[in-house]
Amino acid sequence: MSHSNIAIFVPHMGCPHCCSFCDQHTITGSVSVPHAEDVRRACEQAWDEVSDRSETEIAFFGGSFTAIPRDYMTELLDAAKPFVGGEGFRGIRISTRPDCIDGEVLGLLKSCGVTAIELGAQSMSDRVLEQNERGHSAQAVYSASKLIRQYGFELGLQIMVGLYKSDIADERATAQAVLDIAPDTVRIYPVCVLEGTKLAELYRKGEYRLMDFDTVIGIAAEEAAAFSAAGIRILRIGLHASEEVGSGLVAGYYHPALGEIVRSRMIRDIIEKNIPDGCSRVEVRVGKSLVSAAAGHKKCNREYFEKRGIGLEIIPDSTLDSRQISLGGEVFDCV
Ligand code: SF4
Repeated sequence: MSHSNIAIFVPHMGCPHCCSFCDQHTITGSVSVPHAEDVRRACEQAWDEVSDRSETEIAFFGGSFTAIPRDYMTELLDAAKPFVGGEGFRGIRISTRPDCIDGEVLGLLKSCGVTAIELGAQSMSDRVLEQNERGHSAQAVYSASKLIRQYGFELGLQIMVGLYKSDIADERATAQAVLDIAPDTVRIYPVCVLEGTKLAELYRKGEYRLMDFDTVIGIAAEEAAAFSAAGIRILRIGLHASEEVGSGLVAGYYHPALGEIVRSRMIRDIIEKNIPDGCSRVEVRVGKSLVSAAAGHKKCNREYFEKRGIGLEIIPDSTLDSRQISLGGEVFDCV
């Protein structure tokens, strides 16, 4: 999941939608709105600081970039464009809603130097999208993805796990739809219930019952394994900085080490599927980035197998890639 970017948060003021999980309406007025000068300053500061500019993107995050007023959108992109290409940064990344994509805006983004577009798909169940007031269908994700590809952009999809009214079948169907679309990248966001959102209201009324944490971790691990096996790069699992929690966390699946917890579960699943019946000790060789993930967050993998009478021996192995594990001579990729 090594990926570096200069993140510029563009709050979506005046968004006409009211997605169940979004706190943009609550935080409007309390966040600053970046302008061209802020973009230039962020790029100049990063110019010498990043270890490899060719691996770094200027990323406009925070909502529906293509739905903000055109003048403002081009002001931000024009400020970023001179820093891209040649000895500069790799490209410009934006994120937006699937129903805010058409040929006209894609042409404009292309001319402004944008290279990667991420779509907030969230779920590929129309029922879940409707219950969470997204205001677009799953078909909109398929159509926008196709068009983005036709225009030659890198395509990313963002999905959420554990939305209101989403069950395990919906989660699996969403993962399968992502596999069918085969984006270049994906971000997996287990839901965070934020203050001031519809989800917070439903949660407090007892109408939104969260799946337990372990179930959601299992789903995210399953998805990460499937995406990774299909060659889809996983850019992020879970919100990783507390400032992204905006107006405050009410409930949900926030954990500062969520990515590591999901990675540990992936390793546990790999071990479980591949150990012979009746064994009492398993030797797992791991690349250097996976030594602690193999033992599990707070050693949970060790404990999990110990309860089943299986001792876990974790051996760092420099012949493996940093994110590979080897079990019984077979090598598996992790994220
Ligand atoms: S998540 Fe939904 S409500 Fe929030 S800014 Fe995006 S489209 Fe608007």
